[in-house]
Amino acid sequence: MRAEFDVGIIGGGPAGSTAAAYLAKAGLKVALFESENFPREHVGESLVPATTPVLLETGAMEKVEAAGFPKKYGAAWTSAEHRPIDHMGFRGLTHDFRAAEILFNERDQPGVDRDFTFHVDRGKFDLILLKHAEELGATVFQGVHVRDVDFSDDEAVTVNVRIGGQAVGVPVRMVVDASGRRTQLGGQLKFKQTDPVFNQYAVHAWFDDFDRTALAVDQAKADYIFIHFLPVTDTWVWQIPITDTITSVGVVSQKKRFKEYGGDRDRFFWDTVASRPELLDALKNSDQVRPLKTEGDYSYGMTQICGDRFVLIGDAARFVDPIFSSGVSVAMNSARIACHDIAAAAEAGDFSKERFATYESKLRRGVSNWYEFITIYYRLNILFTAFVQDERYRLDVLRMLQGDVWDGDEPRALATMREIVKVVEDDPTHLWHPYLGSLKSPSAAPSF
Ligand SMILES: Cc1cc2nc3c(=O)[nH]c(=O)nc-3n(C[C@H](O)[C@H](O)[C@H](O)COP(=O)(O)OP(=O)(O)OC[C@H]3O[C@@H](n4cnc5c(N)ncnc54)[C@H](O)[C@@H]3O)c2cc1C
Repeated sequence: MRAEFDVGIIGGGPAGSTAAAYLAKAGLKVALFESENFPREHVGESLVPATTPVLLETGAMEKVEAAGFPKKYGAAWTSAEHRPIDHMGFRGLTHDFRAAEILFNERDQPGVDRDFTFHVDRGKFDLILLKHAEELGATVFQGVHVRDVDFSDDEAVTVNVRIGGQAVGVPVRMVVDASGRRTQLGGQLKFKQTDPVFNQYAVHAWFDDFDRTALAVDQAKADYIFIHFLPVTDTWVWQIPITDTITSVGVVSQKKRFKEYGGDRDRFFWDTVASRPELLDALKNSDQVRPLKTEGDYSYGMTQICGDRFVLIGDAARFVDPIFSSGVSVAMNSARIACHDIAAAAEAGDFSKERFATYESKLRRGVSNWYEFITIYYRLNILFTAFVQDERYRLDVLRMLQGDVWDGDEPRALATMREIVKVVEDDPTHLWHPYLGSLKSPSAAPSF
């Protein structure tokens, strides 16, 4: 069968619509299939500055700016823990060892022309990106679910969809899977591997008139993203401004804790936030404007992220943990890097796996930086705040928090963190030993 489109894209989230924009700009004929009708709600509302170069390149930035999303200048972490902790030779530490904050303008980032990024209502943000891809020439099918992909014909890959109750096969030259955590192609081709370290669970909602200064050390920074540590193992809360008055609040904890509540998400949410009474008070004094929603089983990798006539991008390729708000940036940057290879493959008329080698190595390297950073963070989170507060490491940590992980060497701070974690793990008398989290050490990190 002859291909009707050069590329078929499964999913219209930030990964899919960014890929559609890049490929349409490169002059390719693109079909994007999205199951839902946009706007639709989605978790993942706080961006990092590494999204800026992509939005500028695709030309979507102007539209994102015009939407008036709250600007995000930095990030802050708060803790219930105020015990004095031995500084272990770190410089510049404050008495509140577990609190920290960063401003994006402290470090110049290649390709980033401003000192802020955005917090976004994903319903609106994803719609803007999807419409932008359509305006650039991509053919977008909304409300069209991809059932499977058939690679058996050498002439064309068939994307099998259902349109108006009818089964239809759309022939394309290659497929990009951007189906998010539904991992359409990774599931079909049996590439998906559950992450051996993370098994977190999240429960979240929107609140109106929540007092964002309630836990802020510096009241002027109330519109940062806040990560509040709870005095419960591996458990934290996000606080993300969505509009002037609406705030997204989510609890992330181990799935086994959620199970202890028999799956009762309300009781789990309210009991957990009650471990920080000032947070509970602020929530109780606000109006919950969306029902609580759960997100589970979200950490996995793929044994393969590309092959003959296919590439996986965004969450469809890999998902770790949302602690550093990396997801949308990974989605958009993986689309950027993959589309570079795809455009070259189209020009050469060859969509074999080798054509996507640059994408594969860059994605694995970038994501492994994130993965290790996140694993160390869960393992010994006082180390993270020690590094943020110490001038020797601060900019290196900031580089990761900006999402600047795609080019250049591994951030130096990671190697040093790895060594310190090992020392603390190996010595039960170490003053930081009691602060080790329950997740396994980074050496358990998978290679996929
Ligand atoms: C608890 C939690 C908190 C998070 N917080 C943040 C955060 O603060 N900041 C951040 O950057 N990231 C965050 N993330 C991650 C973020 O949500 C994702 O990384 C991001 O949405 C990935 O974009 P994507 O385009 O790959 O997938 P998605 O945004 O999930 O888009 C995939 C699209 O594919 C469609 N689709 C799926 N299957 C099919 C099919 N078979 N046919 C057609 N369409 C299909 C879906 O409807 C969906 O619209 C968080 C994630 C979790 C779980």
